[in-house]
Amino acid sequence: MPTAQRAPSSLLLRRGGDRLLFDCGEGTQRQLQRSSVGLAELEEVFLSHFHADHFLGLPGMLKTFALRGRTELPLTIYGPRGLRDLFGRLRPFVGRLPYELTLVELAPGEALERGDHRIEPFAVDHGAASLGYALIEHERPGRFDVATADALGVPPGPERGRLQRGEAVTLPDGRAVAAAEVVGPSRPGRTVVITGDTAPTPTVVQAAHGADVLVHEATFAAEERERAAETQHSTAADAAEVARLAGVRLLVLTHVSTRYFGPELAREAREIFADTVVPRDFDVIEVPFPERGRPELRKGAARPAPAEPRSAVAESL
Ligand SMILES: [Zn+2]
Ligand SMILES: [Zn+2]
Repeated sequence: MPTAQRAPSSLLLRRGGDRLLFDCGEGTQRQLQRSSVGLAELEEVFLSHFHADHFLGLPGMLKTFALRGRTELPLTIYGPRGLRDLFGRLRPFVGRLPYELTLVELAPGEALERGDHRIEPFAVDHGAASLGYALIEHERPGRFDVATADALGVPPGPERGRLQRGEAVTLPDGRAVAAAEVVGPSRPGRTVVITGDTAPTPTVVQAAHGADVLVHEATFAAEERERAAETQHSTAADAAEVARLAGVRLLVLTHVSTRYFGPELAREAREIFADTVVPRDFDVIEVPFPERGRPELRKGAARPAPAEPRSAVAESL
């Protein structure tokens, strides 16, 4: 539920040049405009389920893209089954769009393969048609050991490229060099798992196994555990237990009820799982490659720079 400080659910995942939006609660486009990220011309939006707090921001955002004159760039919206039905009902409000809009209904396990990573929807426990999403990077090739290659007499050039790709090469003097002699073990990619709304469930533990970041809802604190169970939501303690069982590196709690501010949920979760954060709007989670450090909360990192003070504006006039 929105408060003066918090907007309903939406999370932007940036990876290289990709901008993926997960859920689009009311006011998402304005929150993006207010942020230092801005409202980019998104190409993909992933909906976890069709409760109003997760999609009401879409019609307005789709209209804004149209009003900006977007025509060439297509937009794809992914979601569980029922997505086409939802848009059938939204059509009268959205009207005709000048760009191509594609709706893709996904079932758990129907991964989208993307070259160096995949996006995999998984089942959660929040009514029939609800999905979580995992972005899973493939393993990266190992580090190339230049000093050893030099010592072995591998000339700079295509031979090194073939070794880097895992092939063996034969040197001009007839000696063979195997890739394993100069290329280290392959390095793991990163995994980010986003649950959407859910009660604690083994399918999330499985999807989040060893993940770098688990973004798990924590609507309630433990004092409201009955209410959480009735409404198929989680308490902070529930989410922490899932994170502990899955062995993730960082637990990120979202979807906080208006009754809570964050710190009390963080305290509850940290008794079970120490590496827990509860971000506020405009906070950023940085997810480095595993060998470069741990995922980290950057408070207010997407907050816009403060506006020019009034006096400065007056002077410039
Ligand atoms: Zn819901
Ligand atoms: Zn919700």
